[in-house]
Amino acid sequence: MAAPDFRQLFEAAPGLYSVLDREFRTVAVSDAYLRATMTRREDLIGRSVFKAFPPSPQDPEGKGQAAVREVLERALREGAPQMLALQRYDVRRPAEQGGGFERRYWNARVTPLRGPGGEVEHLLCSVEDATDRAHDARLHKVMNIDAIGVMFWDREATLISANDAFLRWSGYTQEEIATGGLSWKTFTPPEYYAASVHELDEMRTTGRIGPYEKEYMAKGGERRWMLFVGAALDDGPIVEYAIDISARKAAEAARRESDERYRRLFDSIDAGFCVLEIIYDGARPVDYRFLEVNPAFERLTGLHDPTRKTMREHVPEHEQHWFDSYARVAETGEPKRFVGEAKALMGGWYEVFAFRVGGAGSRKVGVLFNDITARMRAEQALKEASQRKDEFLATLAHELRNPLAPIRNAVSILRLREESDEALQMVRQLIERQVRHLVRLVDDLLDVSRITFGKVSLKRERLDLRAVARETVAASEALLAAGGHRFSVELGAEPVWVDGDPVRLAQVISNLINNAARYTPASRRPAPIRLSVAAKGAQACIDVEDDGIGIEPALLERIFEPFIQVERFEAGSGGIGIGLALAKALVQLHGGRISAHSEGPGKGSRFVVSLPRAEAPEAAEAAAPSAVPLRAASRRFLVVDDNVDATVSQAELLRMLGHEVETAYDGQSALRKAQAFRPEVVLLDLGMPGMDGFEVARRLRATPEGRHVLLVAQTGWGQEEDRKRTKAAGFDVHLAKPVDVDALMGLL
Ligand code: ADP
Repeated sequence: MAAPDFRQLFEAAPGLYSVLDREFRTVAVSDAYLRATMTRREDLIGRSVFKAFPPSPQDPEGKGQAAVREVLERALREGAPQMLALQRYDVRRPAEQGGGFERRYWNARVTPLRGPGGEVEHLLCSVEDATDRAHDARLHKVMNIDAIGVMFWDREATLISANDAFLRWSGYTQEEIATGGLSWKTFTPPEYYAASVHELDEMRTTGRIGPYEKEYMAKGGERRWMLFVGAALDDGPIVEYAIDISARKAAEAARRESDERYRRLFDSIDAGFCVLEIIYDGARPVDYRFLEVNPAFERLTGLHDPTRKTMREHVPEHEQHWFDSYARVAETGEPKRFVGEAKALMGGWYEVFAFRVGGAGSRKVGVLFNDITARMRAEQALKEASQRKDEFLATLAHELRNPLAPIRNAVSILRLREESDEALQMVRQLIERQVRHLVRLVDDLLDVSRITFGKVSLKRERLDLRAVARETVAASEALLAAGGHRFSVELGAEPVWVDGDPVRLAQVISNLINNAARYTPASRRPAPIRLSVAAKGAQACIDVEDDGIGIEPALLERIFEPFIQVERFEAGSGGIGIGLALAKALVQLHGGRISAHSEGPGKGSRFVVSLPRAEAPEAAEAAAPSAVPLRAASRRFLVVDDNVDATVSQAELLRMLGHEVETAYDGQSALRKAQAFRPEVVLLDLGMPGMDGFEVARRLRATPEGRHVLLVAQTGWGQEEDRKRTKAAGFDVHLAKPVDVDALMGLL
């Protein structure tokens, strides 16, 4: 039997074999190899495999060749078998089958064949077409997980296959993938490509990919953010999983953008801002550390690079109240707005808004603040100026009263003379009216300033508001009638009880009536001024209405402010803009309200006072004291005042009333006169130079002749404390200047 034809046998073997010489020229090849590589034997034998299998256009660098060459060279060098797994090496399609290249993956085993001398003379390549394995349909099933992209790459980062999720994202079709040429690079936006090459290298050495987040580019160029993770499989391909994280990335970007916006805002606002963390010693907040500050913070506090240190390290003397305030905010979680002084810090004032950062238990506090030192100083200066103005007005009012006393006395004297000369009588009445007006203005001014200083206290009693109104009208009616005004008074049948100070309520009503008269021009005077008092629910109301010049709507609220005057409508109609301010203050002291109403200029005005009503008193009120006759029994008077005019006029007046009068202009002579003259009544001024009225009173009370005299203080200071002081000094009575002669006689 002939020896088998080994060549024929070799060529017919089912495996894919080729034999190469040391120059990698093909020496022998199996038919199966020819079929798999779409070549003809005559094209291979005697030619270098690399010439016979040129690189495909998709592998311009010839990576497939290089990998094969390396394995072949290693086999020659080492003389030992070598493996090559899943190596891509595309093959050329013959022109009659359409030309071009077909993508192929190969597993190869290279076995060195030694000659008789033991030298490696040939290499036996046993090759396996692994292309189908890469396309294994079963994998698709495993891979078809919605929302997770699965990709297989070869070692050169060309896409072998991918699942539906990937197709959806990429916009490529299964056919396009099969045709090949989609590489890692295809899906990587150009600006990331360098990084992605690095990732690929890393994968080659570690066998693992990611996880990393990266932008991924679809066919149309649109991008999405993906999370990638993968690994190289043993037999070569790389499996990679991808999850779409675009939504999360978009949210993150939005968040970053918003953070960025706030950061810019925070950096550019004028207000200082910081986040601090409170430091406790036991339960006591003793310091805080700055965690974050904005540029304005440094400017406003003068602290440089504050976040390295705590507040006490910067400013050891910083006031404890700051630590306490912030600690309270952290402990309660309630935001707090306050103004605080930082003497040790900048010597300034800060307006602060503090809020807790984080939930309960957090010691962090966010602080937003402004330097208001300049404003505080301006306010302080304004306050001082206003205080000085108030003090000035108080002094002015007080000083104005002094000259009024002698004038009033003088007028009273004139009245007692019962002058027959009509012209003089008219003049006397004129002076009397003007003095009364002046006294009223000064009284109002004094009252306003007292209210400003909180020195007015009401002497309340249960009273019928109708009685107060009736008496007030009676007091001013004659005078107003002289001016041509008429009254219509409506008081109702039922008493209207309130808890009020009758003097103060009379003042309010008289101010309103006087205004109604003053601001009603002569031409309108036939229409009466209407006053009514009525109970309305829980309120007692006083209503004063006129048909006068009316009030601009815009001014209705403002006319209650002190010193507000609408343009003078009649020269000398004479107010100084405090009547309504005073009325309002007095009404408020009573717990009531006052409002002005007018339909506009020329349409008349209406003022409404409402006071809280009171219950009817249990017992009837005591009857009013009966009027006192002006001429009483003759008494011995000693009048003491350093104001000579006041003293002389008052003495003269008293003498005209039939009394015996002595005068003194200082304390010492007053005491001497008292001893000699033995007065029954001493009218004593309080504010005298040298020995003041209090001292005179005390000394007088210590003498036998002074023990039982009626001691009357006459003073511009009619306040409650002054009354207490005069009482303590031994006075029986305290009368405010200018003392009205009727009031004085009433005492006796
Ligand atoms: P004055 O001393 O100027 O009267 P008031 O405080 O009493 O000060 O009143 C303030 C301003 O309110 C007055 O100047 C006047 O313009 C206006 N006013 C007050 N009462 C009336 C009224 N019955 N009719 C019109 N205007 C009035």
